[in-house]
Amino acid sequence: MNHPNARNKNSRHVYGIVPSRRLGRSLGVSTVPFKVCNYSCVYCQLGRTTKVCNTRQSFYPTNEILGELEEFLKVHNENEYDVITLVSEGEPLLYRPIDIIISGIKRLSKKPVVVITNGSLFYDENVRNEVRQADIIMPTLDAWDDESFKRINRPFGKLSFEEVYKGLLELRNLFPGEVWLEVMLVKGLNDSKEQLERLTERIARLKPDRVYVNVPLRPPAEPWVEKPDEVTIKQARELFNAISIEKGAPGKFVSPESDAESALLEIIKRHPMSKSDICSFLEQRKINSEQFLREFESLGHVKKIVYNGTVFYRFIKEG
Ligand code: SF4
Repeated sequence: MNHPNARNKNSRHVYGIVPSRRLGRSLGVSTVPFKVCNYSCVYCQLGRTTKVCNTRQSFYPTNEILGELEEFLKVHNENEYDVITLVSEGEPLLYRPIDIIISGIKRLSKKPVVVITNGSLFYDENVRNEVRQADIIMPTLDAWDDESFKRINRPFGKLSFEEVYKGLLELRNLFPGEVWLEVMLVKGLNDSKEQLERLTERIARLKPDRVYVNVPLRPPAEPWVEKPDEVTIKQARELFNAISIEKGAPGKFVSPESDAESALLEIIKRHPMSKSDICSFLEQRKINSEQFLREFESLGHVKKIVYNGTVFYRFIKEG
């Protein structure tokens, strides 16, 4: 097994292709380092935020990110993926300048560019302008006031709910592409009848093109986080006029990395994987999964977590 530091240079910012419940086959482009975020959501599948940050930065040179994508696209054609997704192991719009990344992706590929974001930074006019060239923005809205915002998303410093919400409204008015809103429902935090009604009002004012109801499926930052019962999920879906994504995504994980260990670490960093997904990934490469997983666990980069009766692997630290 290679040490992860010996990873293929193409895989630092570009990862996947991963199956997505909403987007089909998604090729990910990552713009911020692991766990740099301005929220620390109770349900975050990456664990608690370790690098709380609300200042936009050029974490990496733009040509480093775009160069890796260009290399990837030299050996993979557009039939292999459906969208290119800006999604990070943190909040991708903390990267500046994101417009250069989006226009660079557009030069390299004809596939739609999707931005998956917590939606917190659209109060900043620069951010609203910088994302204009994307095709789809997928922000999250789980709260309806400051109290619920603090309880669920645990935002950085003085970030207020009204400021974030106003930013989303302004984005909606200006953005020429589609806005697909995601609402993460957490049992006991935003799933009572009254809470769902408050959320419905907020969503209705925002007029997104689509609404997705999501629930925690992978191990959350806080072990007490649970998904609501099926009746409540159905009720929320009806109230929000939403599509449900509370089922796992069909399809295979694919990676440009030739080394299986590095490939899995690159995916798990952004996306904890279940043991069964890892085994199917290894099967494609004709690797004995039991022996591989024993060694993989012993390296100390991942943690094994059982959530809702399923075994997952979550990234914990670089080598
Ligand atoms: S779920 Fe997204 S917004 Fe929330 S802490 Fe994790 S990375 Fe940040």
